[in-house]
Formats: sequence, structure tokens, C-alpha cells
Amino acid sequence: MEEKTYKFGEKVPQAGKYQCVVCGLIVEYLPKHIVADATFGVCPLCLSGSSAGPKKADEDIWRYMGI
Ligand SMILES: [Zn+2]
Repeated sequence: MEEKTYKFGEKVPQAGKYQCVVCGLIVEYLPKHIVADATFGVCPLCLSGSSAGPKKADEDIWRYMGI
């Protein structure tokens, strides 16, 4: 099965839970966020998605976990 992963700054494609592939932190996006064109942020725990993190802004860090 193909894993769906996303980078910092990409548009969140659907509501649900997404897990940081580095530290395991789970964030949830609600339908209201999708309506507002939410984009993926930096992981607040390990800082993946930023130059200070173990993975940078050009690497996939968020894995879709389901609703
Ligand atoms: Zn993380």
C-alpha cells in the first residue's frame, strides 16, 4: 500500500490525523481547516520541516493516518 506523506507548506488534502514521521507527534486537521485551505506546518515537537529540524522543508514529514 502506498503511503501518503506531505511536506511543510503543502496544502492539506483532507481532514484527519497526520503523524510526524520523525517523532510520532499526531496533529489533526478538521473540515473547517480544509475549507480554509490549511497547509502543513513545521512539527512543533521535533521541528521537522524547518532548517532546525532533523528533516528540512523539502522533505516529507507528515503521514496520513485516517480520520
Ligand atoms: Zn516531529
